[in-house]
Amino acid sequence: MSAAGPPQGAKAPSGGSAAHKVASVGATYIGRFAPSPTGPLHAGSLVAALASWLDARAQGGKWLVRMEDVDTTRCLAGMDLVILQQLATCGLRSDQPVVYQTQRTHLYQVALDRLIASGHAYPCACSRKDIEQVLLRSGQTKPRHGELIYPGTCRTGLQGRSPRAWRMRVSDEALQWTDRRLGAQQQNVAAEVGDFILKRADGCHAYQLAVVVDDAAQGVTDVVRGEDLADNTARQILLQRALGLPSPRYLHTPLVLGADGSKLSKQNGAQALDLSDPLAALNLAAAALALPPYAGGISDALVTWVARWALLRHIKGNHQAT
Ligand SMILES: [Zn+2]
Repeated sequence: MSAAGPPQGAKAPSGGSAAHKVASVGATYIGRFAPSPTGPLHAGSLVAALASWLDARAQGGKWLVRMEDVDTTRCLAGMDLVILQQLATCGLRSDQPVVYQTQRTHLYQVALDRLIASGHAYPCACSRKDIEQVLLRSGQTKPRHGELIYPGTCRTGLQGRSPRAWRMRVSDEALQWTDRRLGAQQQNVAAEVGDFILKRADGCHAYQLAVVVDDAAQGVTDVVRGEDLADNTARQILLQRALGLPSPRYLHTPLVLGADGSKLSKQNGAQALDLSDPLAALNLAAAALALPPYAGGISDALVTWVARWALLRHIKGNHQAT
Protein backbone atom coordinates (compact mmCIF):
# COMPACT_ATOMS: atom_id res chain seq x y z
CA MET A 1 0.00 0.00 0.00
CA SER A 2 1.34 3.42 -0.76
CA ALA A 3 0.41 7.06 -0.87
CA ALA A 4 -0.72 8.23 -4.28
CA GLY A 5 -0.12 11.95 -4.37
CA PRO A 6 -2.54 14.59 -3.19
CA PRO A 7 -5.92 13.40 -1.95
CA GLN A 8 -8.50 13.12 -4.68
CA GLY A 9 -12.06 13.97 -3.91
CA ALA A 10 -11.16 15.41 -0.50
CA LYS A 11 -12.63 18.77 -1.39
CA ALA A 12 -13.01 21.62 1.02
CA PRO A 13 -16.57 22.21 2.18
CA SER A 14 -18.35 24.38 -0.36
CA GLY A 15 -19.39 27.44 1.54
CA GLY A 16 -20.86 25.60 4.52
CA SER A 17 -19.30 25.57 7.96
CA ALA A 18 -18.07 22.44 9.65
CA ALA A 19 -21.13 22.60 11.87
CA HIS A 20 -23.41 22.51 8.84
CA LYS A 21 -21.54 19.52 7.48
CA VAL A 22 -21.73 17.65 10.76
CA ALA A 23 -25.46 18.24 10.93
CA SER A 24 -26.05 17.00 7.42
CA VAL A 25 -23.95 13.89 7.86
CA GLY A 26 -25.27 13.13 11.34
CA ALA A 27 -28.62 11.81 10.13
CA THR A 28 -27.02 8.71 8.71
CA TYR A 29 -23.62 8.30 10.35
CA ILE A 30 -22.98 4.83 11.76
CA GLY A 31 -19.55 3.97 13.11
CA ARG A 32 -18.22 0.91 14.85
CA PHE A 33 -15.50 -0.46 17.05
CA ALA A 34 -14.77 -4.07 16.25
CA PRO A 35 -12.32 -5.76 18.62
CA SER A 36 -11.31 -9.40 18.43
CA PRO A 37 -11.85 -11.11 21.79
CA THR A 38 -8.38 -12.61 21.72
CA GLY A 39 -7.17 -10.60 24.70
CA PRO A 40 -8.06 -7.51 26.70
CA LEU A 41 -7.83 -4.07 25.11
CA HIS A 42 -4.39 -2.48 25.26
CA ALA A 43 -3.38 1.17 25.01
CA GLY A 44 -3.38 1.02 21.21
CA SER A 45 -6.86 -0.44 20.94
CA LEU A 46 -8.24 2.26 23.24
CA VAL A 47 -6.98 4.87 20.75
CA ALA A 48 -9.03 3.27 17.98
CA ALA A 49 -12.05 2.83 20.25
CA LEU A 50 -11.93 6.44 21.42
CA ALA A 51 -11.42 7.80 17.89
CA SER A 52 -14.34 5.85 16.46
CA TRP A 53 -16.56 6.88 19.36
CA LEU A 54 -15.59 10.57 19.08
CA ASP A 55 -16.11 10.53 15.32
CA ALA A 56 -19.60 9.10 15.76
CA ARG A 57 -20.52 11.53 18.52
CA ALA A 58 -19.03 14.54 16.71
CA GLN A 59 -21.33 13.80 13.81
CA GLY A 60 -24.42 12.95 15.79
CA GLY A 61 -24.17 9.34 14.71
CA LYS A 62 -24.46 5.91 16.25
CA TRP A 63 -21.51 3.93 17.61
CA LEU A 64 -21.71 0.15 17.48
CA VAL A 65 -19.51 -2.51 19.04
CA ARG A 66 -19.01 -5.73 17.13
CA MET A 67 -17.04 -8.73 18.38
CA GLU A 68 -14.85 -10.01 15.58
CA ASP A 69 -14.71 -13.58 16.79
CA VAL A 70 -14.96 -15.20 13.36
CA ASP A 71 -11.58 -16.86 13.89
CA THR A 72 -12.67 -19.05 16.77
CA THR A 73 -9.22 -20.62 17.09
CA ARG A 74 -7.82 -17.34 18.42
CA CYS A 75 -10.65 -16.19 20.68
CA LEU A 76 -10.68 -16.58 24.46
CA ALA A 77 -13.89 -17.47 26.30
CA GLY A 78 -15.25 -14.55 28.29
CA MET A 79 -12.88 -12.01 26.74
CA ASP A 80 -15.82 -10.24 25.06
CA LEU A 81 -17.18 -9.34 28.47
CA VAL A 82 -13.76 -8.17 29.65
CA ILE A 83 -13.50 -5.84 26.64
CA LEU A 84 -17.03 -4.49 27.07
CA GLN A 85 -16.27 -3.80 30.73
CA GLN A 86 -13.06 -2.01 29.78
CA LEU A 87 -14.97 0.16 27.32
CA ALA A 88 -17.72 0.90 29.83
CA THR A 89 -15.14 1.90 32.42
CA CYS A 90 -13.96 4.48 29.89
CA GLY A 91 -17.51 5.70 29.29
CA LEU A 92 -17.82 4.02 25.87
CA ARG A 93 -20.99 1.97 25.37
CA SER A 94 -22.49 0.56 22.20
CA ASP A 95 -25.66 2.27 21.02
CA GLN A 96 -27.09 -1.08 19.93
CA PRO A 97 -26.78 -4.65 21.20
CA VAL A 98 -23.30 -6.03 20.57
CA VAL A 99 -23.07 -8.20 17.48
CA TYR A 100 -21.00 -11.41 17.41
CA GLN A 101 -19.58 -12.71 14.16
CA THR A 102 -19.88 -16.34 15.29
CA GLN A 103 -23.66 -15.86 15.21
CA ARG A 104 -23.60 -14.58 11.65
CA THR A 105 -21.79 -17.26 9.69
CA HIS A 106 -24.91 -17.89 7.58
CA LEU A 107 -24.61 -14.33 6.25
CA TYR A 108 -20.97 -14.87 5.31
CA GLN A 109 -21.88 -18.07 3.49
CA VAL A 110 -24.64 -16.29 1.54
CA ALA A 111 -22.08 -13.68 0.46
CA LEU A 112 -19.56 -16.36 -0.47
CA ASP A 113 -22.21 -18.19 -2.51
CA ARG A 114 -22.88 -14.96 -4.39
CA LEU A 115 -19.18 -14.51 -5.09
CA ILE A 116 -18.97 -18.09 -6.33
CA ALA A 117 -22.01 -17.61 -8.56
CA SER A 118 -20.57 -14.42 -10.04
CA GLY A 119 -17.19 -16.01 -10.73
CA HIS A 120 -15.31 -13.91 -8.17
CA ALA A 121 -14.58 -16.84 -5.87
CA TYR A 122 -12.93 -20.14 -6.74
CA PRO A 123 -11.92 -23.24 -4.81
CA CYS A 124 -8.29 -23.80 -3.86
CA ALA A 125 -6.70 -27.14 -3.08
CA CYS A 126 -3.31 -25.82 -1.96
CA SER A 127 -1.80 -26.37 1.44
CA ARG A 128 0.71 -23.86 2.75
CA LYS A 129 3.43 -26.30 1.78
CA ASP A 130 2.09 -26.51 -1.79
CA ILE A 131 2.19 -22.72 -2.04
CA GLU A 132 5.70 -22.56 -0.59
CA GLN A 133 6.94 -25.05 -3.15
CA VAL A 134 5.43 -23.18 -6.11
CA LEU A 135 6.89 -19.90 -4.84
CA LEU A 136 10.26 -21.52 -4.25
CA ARG A 137 10.37 -22.83 -7.81
CA SER A 138 9.60 -19.36 -9.16
CA GLY A 139 12.09 -17.68 -6.84
CA GLN A 140 9.42 -15.68 -4.95
CA THR A 141 10.01 -16.67 -1.38
CA LYS A 142 9.60 -13.39 0.42
CA PRO A 143 6.55 -13.46 2.66
CA ARG A 144 4.46 -10.36 3.20
CA HIS A 145 3.51 -9.80 6.87
CA GLY A 146 4.27 -13.48 7.31
CA GLU A 147 1.79 -14.38 4.58
CA LEU A 148 2.73 -15.94 1.28
CA ILE A 149 1.50 -14.25 -1.88
CA TYR A 150 -0.73 -16.87 -3.45
CA PRO A 151 0.68 -17.79 -6.87
CA GLY A 152 -2.71 -18.50 -8.46
CA THR A 153 -2.23 -22.24 -8.77
CA CYS A 154 -5.96 -23.13 -8.68
CA ARG A 155 -7.24 -20.17 -10.72
CA THR A 156 -7.84 -22.38 -13.71
CA GLY A 157 -9.09 -25.43 -11.85
CA LEU A 158 -8.16 -28.00 -9.25
CA GLN A 159 -6.62 -30.55 -11.65
CA GLY A 160 -8.41 -33.34 -9.83
CA ARG A 161 -7.32 -32.28 -6.36
CA SER A 162 -9.84 -31.80 -3.51
CA PRO A 163 -10.91 -28.25 -2.62
CA ARG A 164 -9.72 -27.00 0.78
CA ALA A 165 -10.54 -23.31 0.78
CA TRP A 166 -12.14 -20.55 -1.29
CA ARG A 167 -10.24 -17.60 -2.71
CA MET A 168 -11.15 -14.23 -4.20
CA ARG A 169 -10.04 -13.76 -7.79
CA VAL A 170 -8.44 -10.30 -7.95
CA SER A 171 -7.40 -8.41 -11.06
CA ASP A 172 -3.95 -6.97 -11.61
CA GLU A 173 -4.63 -3.27 -11.18
CA ALA A 174 -4.01 -0.53 -8.65
CA LEU A 175 -7.05 0.21 -6.51
CA GLN A 176 -7.25 3.80 -5.29
CA TRP A 177 -9.14 5.25 -2.36
CA THR A 178 -8.93 8.16 0.05
CA ASP A 179 -8.27 7.75 3.73
CA ARG A 180 -9.54 10.65 5.84
CA ARG A 181 -6.23 10.90 7.69
CA LEU A 182 -3.69 9.25 5.41
CA GLY A 183 -4.93 10.86 2.19
CA ALA A 184 -4.80 9.17 -1.19
CA GLN A 185 -3.91 5.48 -1.00
CA GLN A 186 -3.44 2.74 -3.52
CA GLN A 187 -2.72 -0.95 -3.57
CA ASN A 188 -2.43 -3.55 -6.28
CA VAL A 189 -3.96 -6.46 -4.41
CA ALA A 190 -2.96 -9.00 -7.06
CA ALA A 191 0.69 -8.01 -6.80
CA GLU A 192 0.89 -7.37 -3.06
CA VAL A 193 -1.48 -9.96 -1.63
CA GLY A 194 -2.67 -12.26 -4.39
CA ASP A 195 -6.01 -14.04 -4.58
CA PHE A 196 -6.91 -13.94 -0.92
CA ILE A 197 -8.79 -16.44 1.24
CA LEU A 198 -12.57 -16.11 1.68
CA LYS A 199 -13.16 -19.36 3.51
CA ARG A 200 -10.36 -21.27 5.15
CA ALA A 201 -9.56 -24.96 5.04
CA ASP A 202 -10.84 -25.27 8.63
CA GLY A 203 -14.27 -23.99 7.55
CA CYS A 204 -13.96 -20.52 9.09
CA HIS A 205 -15.00 -17.64 6.88
CA ALA A 206 -12.16 -15.20 6.45
CA TYR A 207 -11.93 -12.00 8.43
CA GLN A 208 -12.07 -9.86 5.26
CA LEU A 209 -15.37 -11.35 4.13
CA ALA A 210 -16.96 -11.17 7.58
CA VAL A 211 -16.00 -7.52 8.06
CA VAL A 212 -17.40 -6.47 4.69
CA VAL A 213 -20.67 -8.35 5.19
CA ASP A 214 -21.09 -6.96 8.72
CA ASP A 215 -20.25 -3.37 7.84
CA ALA A 216 -22.87 -3.44 5.09
CA ALA A 217 -25.49 -5.24 7.17
CA GLN A 218 -25.06 -2.75 10.01
CA GLY A 219 -25.15 0.24 7.67
CA VAL A 220 -21.68 1.38 8.72
CA THR A 221 -20.81 4.65 6.96
CA ASP A 222 -17.44 5.29 8.59
CA VAL A 223 -14.72 2.84 9.53
CA VAL A 224 -12.37 4.39 12.09
CA ARG A 225 -9.69 1.94 13.19
CA GLY A 226 -5.99 1.61 13.89
CA GLU A 227 -3.47 2.10 11.13
CA ASP A 228 -2.31 -1.49 11.59
CA LEU A 229 -5.53 -2.47 9.83
CA ALA A 230 -5.15 -0.01 6.93
CA ASP A 231 -3.61 -2.72 4.78
CA ASN A 232 -6.93 -4.60 4.74
CA THR A 233 -8.78 -1.71 3.13
CA ALA A 234 -8.12 -2.54 -0.51
CA ARG A 235 -9.25 -6.15 -0.09
CA GLN A 236 -12.39 -4.98 1.66
CA ILE A 237 -13.20 -2.45 -1.07
CA LEU A 238 -12.74 -5.16 -3.71
CA LEU A 239 -15.20 -7.35 -1.83
CA GLN A 240 -17.68 -4.50 -1.44
CA ARG A 241 -17.59 -3.88 -5.17
CA ALA A 242 -17.90 -7.55 -6.07
CA LEU A 243 -20.92 -7.85 -3.75
CA GLY A 244 -22.51 -4.60 -4.93
CA LEU A 245 -22.18 -3.04 -1.47
CA PRO A 246 -21.40 0.61 -0.71
CA SER A 247 -17.92 1.43 0.59
CA PRO A 248 -17.73 3.25 3.90
CA ARG A 249 -15.34 6.16 4.43
CA TYR A 250 -12.07 5.12 6.08
CA LEU A 251 -10.02 6.85 8.75
CA HIS A 252 -7.00 5.04 10.17
CA THR A 253 -5.73 6.33 13.51
CA PRO A 254 -2.08 6.63 14.55
CA LEU A 255 -0.47 3.60 16.09
CA VAL A 256 0.75 3.60 19.65
CA LEU A 257 4.23 2.18 19.80
CA GLY A 258 5.68 0.23 22.67
CA ALA A 259 8.85 1.25 24.47
CA ASP A 260 10.91 -0.77 21.95
CA GLY A 261 9.30 0.98 18.99
CA SER A 262 7.19 -2.00 17.90
CA LYS A 263 3.46 -1.62 17.54
CA LEU A 264 1.34 -2.69 20.46
CA SER A 265 -0.69 -5.79 19.79
CA LYS A 266 -2.12 -8.70 21.64
CA GLN A 267 0.15 -10.93 19.59
CA ASN A 268 3.35 -9.34 20.86
CA GLY A 269 2.15 -9.31 24.42
CA ALA A 270 1.03 -5.71 24.82
CA GLN A 271 -0.17 -5.19 28.33
CA ALA A 272 -3.85 -4.90 29.07
CA LEU A 273 -5.04 -1.37 29.72
CA ASP A 274 -4.42 -0.20 33.23
CA LEU A 275 -7.85 1.12 34.15
CA SER A 276 -7.17 1.79 37.81
CA ASP A 277 -7.36 5.42 36.67
CA PRO A 278 -9.63 5.43 33.59
CA LEU A 279 -9.13 9.13 32.90
CA ALA A 280 -5.36 8.63 32.78
CA ALA A 281 -5.82 5.87 30.20
CA LEU A 282 -8.18 8.07 28.21
CA ASN A 283 -5.77 10.99 28.39
CA LEU A 284 -3.02 8.80 26.92
CA ALA A 285 -5.34 7.73 24.09
CA ALA A 286 -6.41 11.33 23.54
CA ALA A 287 -2.76 12.43 23.29
CA ALA A 288 -2.23 9.93 20.46
CA LEU A 289 -5.13 11.64 18.68
CA ALA A 290 -3.67 15.13 19.22
CA LEU A 291 -6.36 15.98 21.75
CA PRO A 292 -5.46 17.93 24.90
CA PRO A 293 -5.37 16.27 28.32
CA TYR A 294 -8.37 16.79 30.53
CA ALA A 295 -8.55 16.98 34.30
CA GLY A 296 -11.96 16.21 35.73
CA GLY A 297 -14.59 13.57 35.18
CA ILE A 298 -14.66 11.07 32.33
CA SER A 299 -17.98 12.21 30.92
CA ASP A 300 -16.84 15.85 30.86
CA ALA A 301 -13.60 14.81 29.19
CA LEU A 302 -15.51 12.96 26.48
CA VAL A 303 -17.83 15.91 25.86
CA THR A 304 -14.82 18.24 25.58
CA TRP A 305 -13.01 15.95 23.17
CA VAL A 306 -16.10 15.52 20.97
CA ALA A 307 -16.12 19.28 20.46
CA ARG A 308 -12.38 19.31 19.72
CA TRP A 309 -12.62 16.32 17.41
CA ALA A 310 -15.23 18.07 15.28
CA LEU A 311 -12.67 20.83 14.63
CA LEU A 312 -9.82 18.55 13.55
CA ARG A 313 -8.70 18.87 9.97
CA HIS A 314 -9.44 15.29 8.97
CA ILE A 315 -13.03 15.66 10.14
CA LYS A 316 -13.80 18.96 8.49
CA GLY A 317 -12.96 18.44 4.87
CA ASN A 318 -13.35 14.85 3.92
CA HIS A 319 -16.95 13.87 3.79
CA GLN A 320 -17.18 14.20 0.04
CA ALA A 321 -14.30 11.76 -0.20
CA THR A 322 -15.11 8.60 -2.07
ZN1 LIG B 1 -4.70 -23.38 -4.74
